[in-house]
Amino acid sequence: MEVASYLIDKSSSITVIGSSDLPYQNTLGREIGKFTLTVKRNVKFYMNDNVTEVKGVDGKVKEVVLKSGKVIPADVLIVGVGIFPNSQFLQGSKITMDSKHFVIVDKYMRTNVPDVFCAGDLATFPLAMAKNRLVNIGHWQMAQAHGRIVALNMINKATELNSVPFYWTVLLGKTIRYAGYGEGYTEIVMKGKFEDRKFLALYIKDDEVIAAAGLNYDPAVSAVAERLVTGNVITKAEAQYVQSVCFPLLTVVLRTPDAVSPSPPDRSDDLSWLQLS
Ligand SMILES: Cc1cc2nc3c(=O)[nH]c(=O)nc-3n(C[C@H](O)[C@H](O)[C@H](O)COP(=O)(O)OP(=O)(O)OC[C@H]3O[C@@H](n4cnc5c(N)ncnc54)[C@H](O)[C@@H]3O)c2cc1C
Repeated sequence: MEVASYLIDKSSSITVIGSSDLPYQNTLGREIGKFTLTVKRNVKFYMNDNVTEVKGVDGKVKEVVLKSGKVIPADVLIVGVGIFPNSQFLQGSKITMDSKHFVIVDKYMRTNVPDVFCAGDLATFPLAMAKNRLVNIGHWQMAQAHGRIVALNMINKATELNSVPFYWTVLLGKTIRYAGYGEGYTEIVMKGKFEDRKFLALYIKDDEVIAAAGLNYDPAVSAVAERLVTGNVITKAEAQYVQSVCFPLLTVVLRTPDAVSPSPPDRSDDLSWLQLS
């Protein structure tokens, strides 16, 4: 999606092919996925589809054939279909790896072998904000946090990793920022409006906020991250908080025939509970 966004004014046509219903469906959710389709002017999407064949002439791409039968003429094909760790050199060593060949470390980033540490994309580590669940997160911010913890522990300054994952994605100059670990969320509380290009999604699991994603809501995403790193739980009730508005029980209004009825102000985007400064 980011590549498509970058190339939008540099190519005559762009096609995005994805195997899910919507882009970002699993990570950011369907609502934001739908929104990203609207941001991408002049990009054709073939979702719920797959590439089955790439046809070329003289070693150059000419056509991409989809499972649906659609044939797309192309000069360049960029493939982004996941990751695998470059850990073959550790095969046969004493270092313990998980089933996907990522290196398992503890909260001090130590492997099972004394004095051997692992950090960054290659590490599977206990994530404090997710009740120390073993996770693998391929983000710059997390790799940097790992590096710092490894360095401190290497010089015998025992320090536990306690960092909230964070990343951002830029689509046509619009930056969606994400903080937390939303794996397994069951519900999303939305603030703001997609049509205003200003929204905040709060991802809920077991009645707690486990992640946030926002466009033009940066201070709120940071505030959620700060709450998550301190272990100060944000409840679903807090996320849904709507400041109560008092109205008189009876209002007598003298009005002209075309006057409109007073309506309560919209407080659904109230974030006072986050105590933004
Ligand atoms: C296309 C792409 C886009 C991305 N976009 C984002 C983004 O927008 N935001 C974000 O947060 N993250 C993004 N990431 C992820 C981010 O790049 C990684 O999380 C981060 O680089 C991890 O740092 P690292 O040091 O663990 O690994 P790397 O940066 O991969 O560094 C590992 C280094 O080790 C070297 N190496 C490998 N094997 C050996 C060996 N046997 N001996 C010696 N050296 C070796 C490699 O050559 C490499 O230089 C993106 C990744 C990709 C591929």
